[in-house]
Amino acid sequence: AVEDQAFVTLATTDAYCMGALVVGKSLRRHGTSRRTVVMVSPNVSLEARRPLESVFDEVVQVDVLDSGDRAHLSWLGRPELGVTFTKLHCWTLVRYRKCVFLDADTLVMCNVDELFEREELSAAPDPGWPDCFNSGVFVFRPSFDTHTRLLEHAAQHGSFDGGDQGLLNSFFSDWAVTDIRRHLPFVYNLSANAFYTYLPAFHRYGHGAKIVHFLGGAKPWHSCSNPPANQDSRSQLDQYLSLWWAEHHSQSPPTVR
Ligand code: UDP
Ligand code: MN
Repeated sequence: AVEDQAFVTLATTDAYCMGALVVGKSLRRHGTSRRTVVMVSPNVSLEARRPLESVFDEVVQVDVLDSGDRAHLSWLGRPELGVTFTKLHCWTLVRYRKCVFLDADTLVMCNVDELFEREELSAAPDPGWPDCFNSGVFVFRPSFDTHTRLLEHAAQHGSFDGGDQGLLNSFFSDWAVTDIRRHLPFVYNLSANAFYTYLPAFHRYGHGAKIVHFLGGAKPWHSCSNPPANQDSRSQLDQYLSLWWAEHHSQSPPTVR
């Protein structure tokens, strides 16, 4: 049933809410039949929440410090994992049977509902180290048991990169070798700023981009909303940024349901 499946994103600051809003609008523009959920932390302002409420089916407030003793202790021991722990909250959305997590710095380019045919944990290779998956887009099954085990894993082993990607890769450590169906095609998590590392492949396959990911320090909401006018000289990244800003300025598309 489509009602027990959801796209999930996360914003712990007002700036990331700008990204989350674009994720929600782009999902709706392309007519998803699934629910949409955004997790926000308590510090997010009302002004930033209100537009999210008109675009997403659910705005869920998550607070790592309220999530029980075990999580509390883990949090106190490793404060640097704060945002990571917040992302792990997606596993507690147990009213959904299956979900797709999307980072707030992604842009959906077409309908990607077929992702729900995949199993936990499905994700695309990281462009920097393809034996690791990139945690900006992944398919998962909400479960309190998995959530608890992830927190325990974090408290015991930390994260080799200090974030959720290191933690999730060491928890789902057989991803690289066990089941090729859990490898999402790269076009489901196309790094907006790394495609040029293999330009001929980008020219061959880039037009099939399904989800663009603005990973790294420079987020779209920090960028100029009016890139240079000369179309020919615009880099591919500038074109993705223009698409992001167009979605940002767009009216919220009507719900299809
Ligand atoms: N995030 C957030 N607040 C932060 C940092 C991260 O809400 O201060 C969330 C947001 O959904 C973001 C995700 O965590 O997309 C992962 O962080 P980011 O995208 O910045 O990492 P990158 O993809 O650049 O490695
Ligand atoms: Mn990201």
